[in-house]
Order: sequence, then C-alpha cells, then structure tokens
Amino acid sequence: MKGMRVDNLVKLYTLLLLQGRPKHGYELLKTTGERLGRNVSPGQMYPFLKRLQKLGYVRVQESGSREKKAYALTAKGKKFSQLMIGRFSGIMDLALKSRLRTCAHCGCEVYRGGYRKSSRNFCCRNCAQAYSG
Ligand SMILES: [Zn+2]
Repeated sequence: MKGMRVDNLVKLYTLLLLQGRPKHGYELLKTTGERLGRNVSPGQMYPFLKRLQKLGYVRVQESGSREKKAYALTAKGKKFSQLMIGRFSGIMDLALKSRLRTCAHCGCEVYRGGYRKSSRNFCCRNCAQAYSG
C-alpha cells in the first residue's frame, strides 16, 4: 500500500477506533487523547483523516447537521488498517517477548510477577517447589 505512512500512535489509534462504527472527528480526537494520556491536536488528526479520505480508505458521512462529519472505513480502508495494525502487533509482540521469562519447571511464559528461587525463574511457588534439577 503506497502513499500512506502510519508512523505514530495517533494514526494507529485512529485506525483502531475507525474499525468500529463511524466516528466524528472530535470523538476521534477525544478518545485518542484519552488513550494516549495527552492532548491530541486537530492538526495531528485532520490532515491524516483527509489523506485517508483522498486514498479512498475513509468515507465521510455528513449526517444532517452542518459540521457533524462522521468518518467510516471503506472496505479498502479496512484492509489497510488491518495491515497497519498487524505491523504494530509484530512490534508489540517483540517488546513483550523481551520481558518474558520462562518458568524453569513447567515452561510457561511469565510476563509479570513470577517467582524466583536459586536464581531460576518460576511462574509460581508450586513450580519452584516441584522443580528438581
Ligand atoms: Zn511453572
């Protein structure tokens, strides 16, 4: 897919949000800001939406009242956003994997917490006790 770069979290979140029902611009701004924990300026959002529209990934629904534009992904846009989300998932997987430890006893992956004994990692106290080797 050419002509579009999804190179920041505002864009990624926008695509994620558009997976659901059509959203208004201000709604996208607000929710994206909430999720990212910071203000997202219209200047970060609207040029991106406009570009998506131009590429045929998004269509705008003008529902009655003047300034209430709702943005919806087209079929093409859905494919595109799946692709982009897939790419980011790959990065997220790697980031998570770098933090995973493997239980020395049962082999399960431990992301958080876990149990340490004799400088080995275990998922839980039971595994640490059962471990012999
Ligand atoms: Zn275990």
